[in-house]
Amino acid sequence: MTQAVELKAPDITPYRKGNTGIPYATTFRAAAPGPHVMVNALVHGNELCGAIALDTLFKADIRRGTLTFSFANVAAYERFDPANPAASRFVDEDFNRVWSPEVLNGPRDTVETRRAREMRPLVDTVDLLLDIHSMQRLSHPLALCGPTRKGRELARAMRVPAFVVSDQGHKAGVRLRDYAGFGTEGGAKRAALVECGQHWKADSARVAIQSALRFLLAVEAIHPAGAAPLLEPDPPAQRFIEVTHAVTIAHEPFVFAEPYVGLEVVPKAGTVIARDGAEAIRTPYDSCVLVMPSMRLTKGLTAVRLGRFVD
Ligand SMILES: [Zn+2]
Repeated sequence: MTQAVELKAPDITPYRKGNTGIPYATTFRAAAPGPHVMVNALVHGNELCGAIALDTLFKADIRRGTLTFSFANVAAYERFDPANPAASRFVDEDFNRVWSPEVLNGPRDTVETRRAREMRPLVDTVDLLLDIHSMQRLSHPLALCGPTRKGRELARAMRVPAFVVSDQGHKAGVRLRDYAGFGTEGGAKRAALVECGQHWKADSARVAIQSALRFLLAVEAIHPAGAAPLLEPDPPAQRFIEVTHAVTIAHEPFVFAEPYVGLEVVPKAGTVIARDGAEAIRTPYDSCVLVMPSMRLTKGLTAVRLGRFVD
């Protein structure tokens, strides 16, 4: 089912020039030493909420420290068409599957690998990253904190979204949030990815703004007094889900047993949740949580992730 487009894609052309030599990347530099913080939007060109959040943050003028605001896959965003909003996720390939050394250093030449290579020197200097996304389905907002303890700690310090998923990513390629030191247990680099709700729902922009404010407060990159008027009341305690399995599509057609939207808890082990060609996909244990069931059910892609509540 296609969702109505409630959001308006903001004009981001005022941010094209920036000041980093990389289009659509602006760094506000502090005189004092401190971590380099980045808030990034538009890894996927049809995920409007991140662009709206950055536009809001640019205009709010409550920054402190060294802070970069960046719009990633602008080439895809420029193709956004409210009449066909799913089409502009990317131009040639998923920008969030190209962040391995093999791809970045290799010969693959696409709109997305070119943009990733352009942004890479800047990303290499970032200590603390928030990457803002949204989802295909009407489901609760999530943080994807990656597999590391430091990722979970960052998500906890943000206090939003209410659900935090600890996961390993995708067989199809490496995400920005797992690039280099962000994805390894050691070191000081940390990253959070937020999925702010359905791509085109008005509420996703609100969640994106609140997530960005909470992230920037947690890493001390905005003035608390300046942020206070924009902040919603303190949220309830978060719940953490540990992903144990990613279901990667081996055959086609791949068909889910129910119209899952995500965060369903399947009570019994062995329940058939999908058919991958002739093969039944079953839950591996009781109280299995379904994480982000995809609508792109193509061989090689992740159909759904399976996990359990750990809090
Ligand atoms: Zn996304």
